[in-house]
Amino acid sequence: MSFLSDRVKSVKPSITLAITAKAKAMKAEGIDLIGFGAGEPDFDTPDNIKKTAIDSINAGFTKYTAVGGTDELKNAVIHRIREDCGIEYKQENILISCGGKHSIYNLFQAVINPGDEVIIPAPYWVSYPDMVLLAGGKPVIVGCPESQGFKMTAGQLESAITDKTRLVVVNSPSNPTGAAYSEDELRAIAEIAVKNKILILSDEIYNRMTYGGFKATSIASLGEEIKALTMLTNGVSKTYSMPGWRIGYMAGDAEIIKAMHKIQGQSTSNPTSISQAASVEALQGDQKAVTDMAVEFEKRREYIVERLNNIEGVRCLDPQGAFYVFPNISAYFGKSYSGGKIEDSADLTTYLLEEAKVAVVPGGAFGADEHIRLSYATSMDNIKKGLDRIEEALKAL
Ligand code: PLP
Repeated sequence: MSFLSDRVKSVKPSITLAITAKAKAMKAEGIDLIGFGAGEPDFDTPDNIKKTAIDSINAGFTKYTAVGGTDELKNAVIHRIREDCGIEYKQENILISCGGKHSIYNLFQAVINPGDEVIIPAPYWVSYPDMVLLAGGKPVIVGCPESQGFKMTAGQLESAITDKTRLVVVNSPSNPTGAAYSEDELRAIAEIAVKNKILILSDEIYNRMTYGGFKATSIASLGEEIKALTMLTNGVSKTYSMPGWRIGYMAGDAEIIKAMHKIQGQSTSNPTSISQAASVEALQGDQKAVTDMAVEFEKRREYIVERLNNIEGVRCLDPQGAFYVFPNISAYFGKSYSGGKIEDSADLTTYLLEEAKVAVVPGGAFGADEHIRLSYATSMDNIKKGLDRIEEALKAL
């Protein structure tokens, strides 16, 4: 007999977190493993941010705050969105939560009724479909292969809309592909959303990590009508290398924000007071660390894309943002080794982990089984060593 709810039975655990845990366990056993699984920057949190946190503890800022975040942090978020996206919000449009993941969870809980459809372009971040399921909704996956740059066209969106569609997810730059939408592409999607009156979740968590002169556009900046339908999410985890601090935020329609606030008030209450104080410094203080990180990521991206494309049977698009590459490795499907046959991305991942001692994430987890995801949030030395191992292991197949 099981006491578990149907709701929880419908959900898969996060594969990316599982792979990170497996890689950590192998390392703890003393295995010389190179990890390309990380979903977090490998840099330390900048000193000015850490100092603000320590000062806030010493000043006794250790009690409950307002459920939806402090006024100071909401103002810092408003400032940051104005600077980066050119959009104006008021405090009533902002909710601070325990990471962007929590922001998205709250949103889905607030706007999805049982059976409502949520359009999710694939490849997608692993958590979207399961968070939709947890809210009683139905994920509608729209395949966006590499031939279209891993991006959803306006035509695809229009064809996927039904009278049950509530929301569409736009994640630019994307996890897992690093692909980012141009302003024109977003405009075309915005037009369809406005025409059909559907909400947009605009997940902009990688918006400051862009390369080759590309600048991310927020779909909410493309006019008042689309702004009214867009729920914009971001956070400090990636941009300021603060994933453990757990601060994310959502900006959008005041009524929806109020509903999300109500859910948060009956679940987590406020995000950690100390992390909130530190995030004010992150969002408003010196931004040099952000640019420095992007410069380093850009060098790694160039190296990794070139190396991968030089391996026979591997094809890798040049991503505009984030810190992931998403090469196509399907040429290796059907090959055998002493441990078995490689039929899909999960098998290839197992092969690389066991034979080459390299951890990558199978594309199947992101709805694109012909691929694997490599994160380059690891040192250049590791990247070089890891790619040597991958190259050798693939050649041996
Ligand atoms: N959105 C995307 C696309 C992500 O990749 C992540 C983290 O991996 C998040 C949101 C949530 O990040 P956090 O909860 O740390 O703010």
